[in-house]
Amino acid sequence: MKSKLRVVVLGAGFGGLEIASMLSEEMGDCLDLTLIDKNDSFFFGFSKLDVMFGRRPSQSVRYSYSHIKKPGVVFRQESIKSIDPETRRVITSGGTYEADVLVVALGADYNIKATPGLSDAGNEFYSFEGAERVRKILPDFKKGNVIIGVTGFPFKCPPAPSETALLLHEYLTMRGVRKDCHISLVVPFELPIPPSYGTSKALLSSFEENHIRYVPEIMVGAIDPVHKLAILDDGTELPFDLFLGIPEHCVPGVVAESGLVFDEWVPVDRSNLKTRFPNVYAIGDVTSVGTPKAGIFAAGAARVAAGSIMAEFNGSEFVKAYDGAGSCYVEFGGGKVGRVDVDFFSNPSPKGIHVEASRELAVEKRSYESSGKARWFGISE
Ligand SMILES: Cc1cc2nc3c(=O)[nH]c(=O)nc-3n(C[C@H](O)[C@H](O)[C@H](O)COP(=O)(O)OP(=O)(O)OC[C@H]3O[C@@H](n4cnc5c(N)ncnc54)[C@H](O)[C@@H]3O)c2cc1C
Repeated sequence: MKSKLRVVVLGAGFGGLEIASMLSEEMGDCLDLTLIDKNDSFFFGFSKLDVMFGRRPSQSVRYSYSHIKKPGVVFRQESIKSIDPETRRVITSGGTYEADVLVVALGADYNIKATPGLSDAGNEFYSFEGAERVRKILPDFKKGNVIIGVTGFPFKCPPAPSETALLLHEYLTMRGVRKDCHISLVVPFELPIPPSYGTSKALLSSFEENHIRYVPEIMVGAIDPVHKLAILDDGTELPFDLFLGIPEHCVPGVVAESGLVFDEWVPVDRSNLKTRFPNVYAIGDVTSVGTPKAGIFAAGAARVAAGSIMAEFNGSEFVKAYDGAGSCYVEFGGGKVGRVDVDFFSNPSPKGIHVEASRELAVEKRSYESSGKARWFGISE
């Protein structure tokens, strides 16, 4: 009889939860998997926008890891202190773990200090705490200039700044103060969603219709907190009364110190998500695999890495190479959601198909969330 495979999964976000679920379903009794995260609960990235605009209370979007009850899987709430990819040994606040297979799914962190002035006069809304802070500020905002500004690339969920601009328009309109406010969106791309002309066109016409100023192909390099100016990379100064920032992203410190990083992110073999260290995989935002930093891609990569781990354990052929495909939902406001179906690796350049925003797609997005809750946590509505 084969002994159990000891798998240690670092990070219980989209990638970590999906790989733990799939290995548990497929390997059951042959699996001894430890899933480690410093937090006590998970939230979908998009729920930060719901929290920020007061659409849902914070507690309702967080799912406790205590719900995880899967064959062969144990969850530990511990902080990871060091990772040795050579020996596959991990030290946490709770102990030391040794793995036959190590999966790094620690996501992307934020380097707020990289943008001078951001922590003094700008509000990042990409962390959960940041979104909660903005929710407290927004009700007092009645007039003036709002800038939604990207300060570094790559950043999570490329549609999120555009969604924020449209949801802010809706929020201020509902409060009857929109006519006294100006919204500008500063992004590094020419089109809001570069792989999809259709979605970009729909967003640009929504911006025009709703008087949102689109400032493309540039980023915010610094904030002048005294004069309340956003200083763009070409030196242009944009005055603001409220700055909502997308901070620079980086690997978590423990990954930076592990020897896994090259050129800022963890490089992996695109077909199977292996790092250069034997039996060490990396999935999701922590990698430089070539897809955008989004939960849908982290979960897709997790399924492929799981396939590779099982094939090696069973001595069978690994059949499903990663195609970098996924569907992203885009909030347009007014209860409507669009979708981009995109495939990053099958064609020479990524191709995104636009599905027009509708209330039906808003329902589909909710059921995507429900199916994640059911699959990862066993929570049904
Ligand atoms: C505003 C916003 C909107 C978004 N909307 C969408 C969307 O609509 N669709 C979509 O697909 N994606 C969306 N995203 C992006 C999505 O949230 C991320 O891309 C996704 O969470 C990445 O998954 P991951 O598994 O790589 O990392 P994460 O989900 O970030 O998980 C990493 C985990 O590692 C843990 N961790 C980190 N360091 C340590 C440590 N030292 N010790 C222990 N644990 C640690 C963290 O606590 C975390 O739980 C959005 C993001 C934002 C900010």
